Amino acid sequence: MAYYSAQDLVLFSAIIAAATRERDWDYGTGNNLKGTTVQEVQCMQIGENIYIACNNGEHARVASFLQAFGVSDHGSFILCLKYCHHLYTMPHADKVNLLGVGNDLKYSGPEQKAIDYSAPSHVHVRPLSEKQLTTAKTLISVDSDQPLEKRQLAYFLRKFVGTDPNPKFTCPPYGASLLIKSCSDAKAINVLEDSLTVHAELKLLRMVAEEKLAGRMMSVRRVNLGGLKQACVPCARWIELYNAWMKVQFKTSVELPPPPESREQGSGAGNRPLIGGITGYGNYVKNLFNGVKNESFEDISRHKDDEIL
Ligand SMILES: [Zn+2]
Repeated sequence: MAYYSAQDLVLFSAIIAAATRERDWDYGTGNNLKGTTVQEVQCMQIGENIYIACNNGEHARVASFLQAFGVSDHGSFILCLKYCHHLYTMPHADKVNLLGVGNDLKYSGPEQKAIDYSAPSHVHVRPLSEKQLTTAKTLISVDSDQPLEKRQLAYFLRKFVGTDPNPKFTCPPYGASLLIKSCSDAKAINVLEDSLTVHAELKLLRMVAEEKLAGRMMSVRRVNLGGLKQACVPCARWIELYNAWMKVQFKTSVELPPPPESREQGSGAGNRPLIGGITGYGNYVKNLFNGVKNESFEDISRHKDDEIL
């Protein structure tokens, strides 16, 4: 089983954020997903599955991007990230020679910080082989017909580098959507369909809490979480309170990216996650998940002694 650290998940999040910011992946996916500019991507691993969340409604664009590559399992997920990272890190002067066309792909400031921070994790996205690069160049720059199994990659690469799609393979067969609303529908790679104004990492932690509160995932004792940016100040405080409860109640820890930090910090305050109908729990837990603006925490922390310790 592939096991990824919180730092690995930072790397994956940064590459996904960059690739989905770059192009409108909604076009041509054969569904009506509405995408929007992606500002935050967070990845979490629970057991063998990876869950991806965004702020607000940004998840649809991430799902379209992964679907365009044909991501369906860990292997295709990592391969997709390898292609993207290689194209992002290729020296500008080599692009025409290696790909047949130039392009303007470049990590943004926050993305580059996350890429640099996660340097030890780059082993997961090693450069493409010479053969893969040669194939990529042909698919991008030669307008000949391609066998069906190459059309999806051709479509993806051309779109990624900003070249006109070849009319011969504009409609590749798309795989199943990766969007899910809860863990019960989970596959190896999942994108959380959650449009609430809750910051991405809190959406993922809400999902874990819902599972635990329902008596599921009880054997899971550790989840890894890493994203493009460090949590904003209110989210960081909320996560502290959440972790204290998770440890005592479910003996479960959330592993976050280790210091020293050099990623950009998120800004603004979202809402707390919302879980309805929590019965049998006191105000600490009910207030953690009451959906209000995430800015003052006294209503949670004052119940700590009664309910946690
Ligand atoms: Zn936040």
